[in-house]
Amino acid sequence: MELEKEDIVRLLSSTGDEEQALLDKALSCKLEHLDNKVHLRGLIEYSSRCSKDCLYCGLRRSNSRATRYTMTDEDVVNCALQAMELHYGSVALQCGERSDKVFTDKIAHLCREIKRVSDGKLGITLSCGEQTEGVYRQWKEAGAHRYLLRIESSSRNLYYKIHPHDDCHSFERRISCIETLLRLGYQTGTGVMIGLPFQTLDHLADDLLFFRRMGVAMVGMGPFIPHPDTPLWEYHNQIPSPEDRLRLTLKMIAVLRLMMPKINMVSATANQTINPRGREQAILAGANVIMPNLSPSDYRKEYLIYPDKPCVSDTAQQCASCLDLKLKLIGHEVLYDEWGDSLAFTSAQQE
Ligand code: SAH
Ligand code: SF4
Repeated sequence: MELEKEDIVRLLSSTGDEEQALLDKALSCKLEHLDNKVHLRGLIEYSSRCSKDCLYCGLRRSNSRATRYTMTDEDVVNCALQAMELHYGSVALQCGERSDKVFTDKIAHLCREIKRVSDGKLGITLSCGEQTEGVYRQWKEAGAHRYLLRIESSSRNLYYKIHPHDDCHSFERRISCIETLLRLGYQTGTGVMIGLPFQTLDHLADDLLFFRRMGVAMVGMGPFIPHPDTPLWEYHNQIPSPEDRLRLTLKMIAVLRLMMPKINMVSATANQTINPRGREQAILAGANVIMPNLSPSDYRKEYLIYPDKPCVSDTAQQCASCLDLKLKLIGHEVLYDEWGDSLAFTSAQQE
């Protein structure tokens, strides 16, 4: 659907019957193009060390209260084996950002290990921040085929209200990294947080237009959850209520589904922090990917990007069966043992 900015803002501000009609239309659109299938990416929270200082994130380097860990190679291999056992077709390796060679070589090594122990069967998504073209190339050669790098906000102005304005945080570099990933042939995903201080519906409409303009294959958008040990906590009383942030997230997902019917869209775990049914609500609003946690529980509780993370004490096995059941209850079906590539990406490649 070729929506213009005014249409998008109108849809994002809809309430009551109009809001419900939007969500229903997005669900029909998804079912028509992608069926009722949900793809899984087993999430491996590899390391909580980060060299950046994003003003919203609990892992920011200035947060001295954060516990820092990095998984061993064996931990990561065990997560991959667990993914195989649970029939997840794909894993996502996520961590704080570092650019030193020890780190970048290690990620390449871990990609090769995941491929080795799964006999090439597991798909690999990386979400390890901004890197040089050479590093992105190295990781792709090592086996990664998807990459998630949220733009966080496509407004330069808002970007610098939620990041320090220094050499380490550059809006232009973030965009250029997304362009590089697309050029290198990664299935590339981006996204934003919703309900940030200073954020307006105008910003959010521009974000959706940005995703369309960039032609990304995947989008991950989730509600902003204020973290008490970060600078943006200061505004926690001035942002929309948690319920409103979740509603706005659902509307963003629904509108984007109408604009880009074939992309892969993640239902963020943060939805579940706000409402125990939030993850399923996002699936019913048009999302088609979920990232169940594979990290051992000792690490899970230390990877605190935002507070009140759900399921920190569950095992991967518990997460898997709970998810399968919850999705069945809403008429959806998990697609096991498949990479679950974005149809937007595969059909663009065939054109
Ligand atoms: N370091 C990598 C990946 C880990 S962070 C990167 O920054 O790209 C993954 C995502 O968590 C970020 O893109 C951000 O959108 C989200 N995030 C960080 N802090 C958050 C918060 N307080 N509430 C909700 N999402 C948050
Ligand atoms: Fe680091 Fe990513 Fe958190 Fe920014 S959002 S502080 S880069 S982990």
